[in-house]
Amino acid sequence: MNLDWQVCSRARLSRDARFDGKFFIGVVGSGVYCRSICPAPTAKEKNVRYYPTAAAAAEAGFRPCLRCRPESSPGTPAWLGTSNTVSRALRLIGESGLEDGGVEVLAERLGVGSRHLRRLFLKHLGATPIAVAQTRRLHFAKKLIDETSLPMSQIALASGFGCVRRFNAGIRKVYHRTPTQIRHLARQKDMQPGNQYLFRLHFRPPYHWHGMLAFLAPRATPGVEVVEDGTYRRTISLNGRDGYFEVSLDLTRPALIVRIEFGDPHSLFFIIERVRAMFDLTADWSAIVQNLRTDQVLATRVEADPGLRVPGCWNGFELATRAILGQQITVKGATALTGKLVSSFGKPFSAANRLTHLFPAPEVLADANLASIGMPGARAETIRALARAVRDGKIKFEGVVDSDAFLNRLCEIPGIGKWTAQYVAMRALREPDAFPSSDLGLLRAMSLESSRELENRAEGWRPWRAYAAMYLWNIFGESKVRGEKISSNRKTAPLQQDASDRSLAMVGD
Ligand SMILES: [Zn+2]
Repeated sequence: MNLDWQVCSRARLSRDARFDGKFFIGVVGSGVYCRSICPAPTAKEKNVRYYPTAAAAAEAGFRPCLRCRPESSPGTPAWLGTSNTVSRALRLIGESGLEDGGVEVLAERLGVGSRHLRRLFLKHLGATPIAVAQTRRLHFAKKLIDETSLPMSQIALASGFGCVRRFNAGIRKVYHRTPTQIRHLARQKDMQPGNQYLFRLHFRPPYHWHGMLAFLAPRATPGVEVVEDGTYRRTISLNGRDGYFEVSLDLTRPALIVRIEFGDPHSLFFIIERVRAMFDLTADWSAIVQNLRTDQVLATRVEADPGLRVPGCWNGFELATRAILGQQITVKGATALTGKLVSSFGKPFSAANRLTHLFPAPEVLADANLASIGMPGARAETIRALARAVRDGKIKFEGVVDSDAFLNRLCEIPGIGKWTAQYVAMRALREPDAFPSSDLGLLRAMSLESSRELENRAEGWRPWRAYAAMYLWNIFGESKVRGEKISSNRKTAPLQQDASDRSLAMVGD
């Protein structure tokens, strides 16, 4: 635990939203714990205790504040920097909870002993893995009570309590109120129709929403994704059910508004966690910006456009397929080709709002005749090989613990090279330091000749090179719009060191 008391104190007194979720405040006397932005009257310094996570505050005996609602905070930064194992464990808990096997199984997947994992958690988060998972479950239950009109019996199951009795007991113990009393407090204004859920997901400002949409819009797969009027929308398929969600910026507070239409409320936890990852909501901008500011090219851009995030993805297979489709062609060409793939092999989906298909499943693409949509033979075979590997369970995008091992397996597929692997690491595995250094756009933005030169320059940006890449693509994109020539003067620069990757002229996709 490495909390700087003075920093915490300043953030608390100024109710600084940039620190929201980076620590929690336990107030002695009232017995509640709060976010740094709590509107309640500020307690005296001698009566407050600082905790690195909500779970640590809960372990110390504090209850979540009903005013600032700690369950609504952006939460612990996804990447702690201090411990890879803890970061990965948090990711796994987010993906599946601790439901299947508890700490022992979690530790085994991470390749460490359960006692060691417990020690690491206590050191970095101030709470045990079980406490972290339980707090997450409780917070999610509270969110469902406050923000949806789901019956309590459904919430009990959707938040992983198993049965209503345990759910009621858990909520009562922590909040000293019944779930129904809590729902009355929330005073929901508008009832939502069945199967529709509206959530607010908070982030630590700044957040460059426009930059996020500007990246996603030209890459939106026709029929599967739509970006319009400041909103991102897409179809989703999960455990045999189909639905969609849409995301827009909340203009009244630092949050995104997410509307989900999905038939099975038990999948909500997973969907929400996936959306949070996709829109990079747990990023800790203040930590990222420190490194990026040290480079003069980045510093100017970071100053002008603060809060750019790394867009994740809904589904790793879909992202990787799209990256392969985009090899050697423009973003526009890749989007059109992906649209053809979807209309030929995707499952039809009937919702309004221009969503017409679900992205094709690996089972379908494994044996698909991709020549029919005008795809070159070698690239079609790469996609089929990827689809077969995913179908047969040889490659799994979920629950990746060792990124390097995963990427090595991915690169064994002919036609997938370093660029594609790094792009997948960046957007599907959410590795903040992933960096497709052979990308033409990145090189041009820095006016460099080779990926080696770029890698040397990027040493100073670690461990946030993925964020640097977003800024460089942003710089490159604008220079193209202005028609400037910021590229090198050498005509045929060796842009790709890795000949197996046919991604010579791709810019960000
Ligand atoms: Zn509070």
